[in-house]
Amino acid sequence: MKKLPKNSFYTKKFPEGCKYCQRGSKMVLLVTGLCHTNCFYCPLSEKKKNKDVIYADEMLIKSKEDIIEEAELIEAEGTGITGGDPLLVVDRTVDFIKLLKENFGKEHHIHLYTSMLSFDKIKKVVEAGLDEIRFHPSFELWNRIEETNFRDVIKNVGIDVGMEIPVIPHLREEIKHLLKEVDKFGLDFINLNELEFSYTNVDALSKFGYVAKNDVSSAVKGSEELAYEILDWGIETPLHYCSASFKDAIQLRNRIARRARNVAKIYEIITEDGTLMKGIVIAGRKEIKKIKDKFGIEDAMIKWNEEMNRIETSPFIVEEIAPHIPYKCYVIEEYPTADRLEVERIPL
Ligand code: SF4
Repeated sequence: MKKLPKNSFYTKKFPEGCKYCQRGSKMVLLVTGLCHTNCFYCPLSEKKKNKDVIYADEMLIKSKEDIIEEAELIEAEGTGITGGDPLLVVDRTVDFIKLLKENFGKEHHIHLYTSMLSFDKIKKVVEAGLDEIRFHPSFELWNRIEETNFRDVIKNVGIDVGMEIPVIPHLREEIKHLLKEVDKFGLDFINLNELEFSYTNVDALSKFGYVAKNDVSSAVKGSEELAYEILDWGIETPLHYCSASFKDAIQLRNRIARRARNVAKIYEIITEDGTLMKGIVIAGRKEIKKIKDKFGIEDAMIKWNEEMNRIETSPFIVEEIAPHIPYKCYVIEEYPTADRLEVERIPL
């Protein structure tokens, strides 16, 4: 067993850890927010949950070209197809698998999450070129998984097959039953995720008395301890535990850094965290020429942002000019993601 930094561990299968995870090099393609499983801990955000929307990372997808664009911007080496449940829109999922393989080649590794144990649907995605499937059986089946067709489905899938569940402390006995049973099914791996609070599941999780692990984490107290306890249950199938901090600190940060390299404008500075810093001036479009002429700023170093309705320039330039113009000026830090989430705004 190899213990990695940031409280993640791998047994057997990934001695060095999953290369895609560590590099943050897989695109997350949510093919629909629809799902019939209704997990009480479902972390999906309001804009996705039970909505038939498509997102590639943080980009709302309107066309197939958008998917290719996002994959290129993060230099994706693979894709994780998620939902909702991708098998609820199986024809769309098949289309996207083919699209990705046609554009990025056979080696673009694609895995898919589903809670459906439907062999017909699985056959379609496998034939389209899927490389790996990760099952998330409904928590209501965990204490009677042997009564389902899970074992048969696993046997007949014909590609790498794993199971992925969150580690939920009050379902300790159900998890033990599930893991002991599926250990006989021939899975290639089992992924255990630290249970996390999200805006949409906080009420449901609080009802069970859960609290956050500490002030700076969204992880649920007790989940990690149970994950480490599972190591002593004698499970033969390779186990992988992924902590919330590993996902944030390694996966997200690396993906963001990759995207930053491709989207940063000449006047934006890429920080060590992969976020972008720039200066903004809250003034009308017409003011840009006056500012440019007055301070002798090169065309490339100052631009109008139509979407945000503001003038943008470098943090250094805005610091220089702020005392001499009658407009509000800020240095801001934002994610290089499609939604350009702002992290910090410093008034000048
Ligand atoms: S299977 Fe996934 S998407 Fe569906 S309800 Fe459960 S956690 Fe949410």
